Amino acid sequence: MTSKPTIVRTVAELRKRIASFRRSRPIEEAAVGFVPTMGYLHEGHASLLRRSVQDNGLTVLSIFVNPIQFGPNEDLDKYPRDEEKDVALAASCGVDLVFLPTVQEMYPQRRVTTVMVSEVTDGLCGASRPGHFDGVATVVAKLLNIVQPDRAYFGLKDAQQVAVVTRMAQDLNIPTEIVSCPTVREEDGLALSSRNVYLNAEEREQALSLSRSLSRVAEWIGEGVDAPELSELLKREIRRSPLAKVEYAEALTYPDLLPPEPGTPLRSIDGSVLVALAVRFGTTRLIDNRLLNPKEVGVHACFAK
Ligand code: AMP
Repeated sequence: MTSKPTIVRTVAELRKRIASFRRSRPIEEAAVGFVPTMGYLHEGHASLLRRSVQDNGLTVLSIFVNPIQFGPNEDLDKYPRDEEKDVALAASCGVDLVFLPTVQEMYPQRRVTTVMVSEVTDGLCGASRPGHFDGVATVVAKLLNIVQPDRAYFGLKDAQQVAVVTRMAQDLNIPTEIVSCPTVREEDGLALSSRNVYLNAEEREQALSLSRSLSRVAEWIGEGVDAPELSELLKREIRRSPLAKVEYAEALTYPDLLPPEPGTPLRSIDGSVLVALAVRFGTTRLIDNRLLNPKEVGVHACFAK
């Protein structure tokens, strides 16, 4: 059964409602799940919300386009928004509270505190979007302090973000379990993203080069390539789509996000490897990745969830 979620716009009211929920339930039913988003929700977000509703007595969704995680020339001003549709999707997933703060509510005074996570932010989007993960870590730390959830749900579509938030929660003793969820895709393989609406028909068609190249990763790793060779193979495959401009195509260990030693076949690496892409189509920047366990690639070429 679904009912309309309550919309809350202030930190004080959100805290009051969560406290009242916790007081009203025996401790074993009082778990709070939290899904932070920037809105313009799609099935990827819905998968996180459904998981939280399944696992917890109360689910809080936040929708906040966080200005401090956008660079000066990024898409902050044109980031798509549709509050009404988002609330309807939240209702259909069984969300209890939707937190929709203004920028003023989240940043009421000049901010002199920043949460900076090092090392896991050195590569990938951390390198190509300077300051981005400072903005992410800071807003996620604030939201986790505001909501104080038992569990918070993040999508592996943004695998580096999962690594950053997990490490931050460990380092700062934040008592929230960080739960990572698999990437939801369109039927043809394109990873769902709020930014997909920016693509014109031709770009949408060529955007399949991301998932298509990633689908060959297990085969290439099985053949014995090292990280630089895999990077080259991915770039060559993506560049078959003439509109694609590759920002990065890399394999790193996961969750430490360290570059494997060049010359070492990826298939000999213990543990997980993240193969991550960022590709531009015109002004639209898309990311996608696969997380896999190379030791299993030769056996049944299966991707780790
Ligand atoms: P965003 O609104 O883009 O900040 O995303 C909010 C959350 O939804 C993040 O944890 C994302 O990783 C997750 N998410 C976005 N797209 C997908 C997807 N296609 N599949 C699963 N999770 C996703």
